[in-house]
Amino acid sequence: MASSKTKGKKDLSQQALQAETLFKDAMKAEGYRCTRERLTVLREIYESDSHLDADEIFVRLKKKGISISRATVYHTLDLLFKFHLVNKIDLGHKHTHYEKSFGVDNHLHIICEQCDRVVEVHSDELNEILERLCEKNGFMLGSFSLQVFAKCREETEHHHCSKSCKNDTRV
Ligand SMILES: [Zn+2]
Ligand SMILES: [Zn+2]
Ligand SMILES: [Zn+2]
Repeated sequence: MASSKTKGKKDLSQQALQAETLFKDAMKAEGYRCTRERLTVLREIYESDSHLDADEIFVRLKKKGISISRATVYHTLDLLFKFHLVNKIDLGHKHTHYEKSFGVDNHLHIICEQCDRVVEVHSDELNEILERLCEKNGFMLGSFSLQVFAKCREETEHHHCSKSCKNDTRV
């Protein structure tokens, strides 16, 4: 069994460390300055298991006392995406969310339209279907990050939604 020793928060996972090395190398190769601020954005994403948007990342870093501008967060996210270190996800919020992609299997996101709950589904079956569809159309499957919008079954049955009023976006 894996040891349950919990080290300090600064202790990054192997996955995060490898991603950081890749990021540093890619920045170097492309002539970008490898700044501490940029690395903190990568770490924040790799320490998190959720799907963060740029503002959430900015706020989290601010709370940790890291001085970074919103523009730097946005720019760094673009770089991370360019280097295939994050995936972009559309949760239906009219802005982009990000998640780590290095060392993470391709997966499907099922998003509740009413309460924003996001469930990640890893499926070999889905992988095979996509592989077949790509092949049929003359492609080789690369990476994917899929979104499906649905409704929690509970809510459908009881017409209850805990968060629907919070995101009141009447058009
Ligand atoms: Zn959002
Ligand atoms: Zn729901
Ligand atoms: Zn995900």
